[in-house]
Amino acid sequence: MRKLIAGNWKMNGLASSLAEIEALKGLTGEATCDIVVCPPFTLLEKAAERAKDSVVIIGAQDCHPQISGAYTGDVSAQMLVEAGARFVILGHSERRVFHNESDAVVSTKVAAAHEAGLTAIICVGETRAERDDGKVIEVVGGQLRGSIPAGATSSNVAIAYEPVWAIGTGLVPTIDQIEEIHSSIRQTLEERLGEDGRRVRILYGGSVKASNAADIFGATNVDGALVGGASLKAVEFAGIISAAA
Ligand code: PEP
Repeated sequence: MRKLIAGNWKMNGLASSLAEIEALKGLTGEATCDIVVCPPFTLLEKAAERAKDSVVIIGAQDCHPQISGAYTGDVSAQMLVEAGARFVILGHSERRVFHNESDAVVSTKVAAAHEAGLTAIICVGETRAERDDGKVIEVVGGQLRGSIPAGATSSNVAIAYEPVWAIGTGLVPTIDQIEEIHSSIRQTLEERLGEDGRRVRILYGGSVKASNAADIFGATNVDGALVGGASLKAVEFAGIISAAA
């Protein structure tokens, strides 16, 4: 399966950071995987201009479930498309925690993204306490079933398994732990989407770096990565991308 490597800049980046997209273009011209960079809303249009005619695809980090209306401060999926985005990250644990997003809300956002023609990267993952309680498969399975709307296919969704305790901490699950949960996600996708569930890309996210990427990409059912901190610098991000080749 063609791997998908997505970078989530979160609330980082000013116009000067667009130089990283220029640098990334130079470093990844021969890439054999899909490369997505998700800057903040304010940089989307400029980032899309810089990425034009290159292998770099631009994505966003969130969208509102409605097409338009009285939702002060929010941004619709259609607006993202107009700004040049082709992907959107939805249900990231930081949105689930800081903005109280439930699986039902995530599902309606994913449906809105699809309606606008975007591919959604749907994030799921357990907390440390849920892992310690032996509830990983139950929690992640529940999030997954609740967050995937009708109409989802392998072309319009990817799943990112991101254990909350591994995000930005330098902690990474063992390869066996990653394979166990990715295989259970694959099973849930097949139950939900039938044969097409086999083609949905399942990304791992949480403290991925150039130094650990090759081991992670060698794991069964790991079809790419969602990368936070290490996506901010083109050289480090390109190191992760080349590990996927
Ligand atoms: C993320 O927040 O999606 C993430 C994976 O962050 P980091 O790579 O910094 O752990």
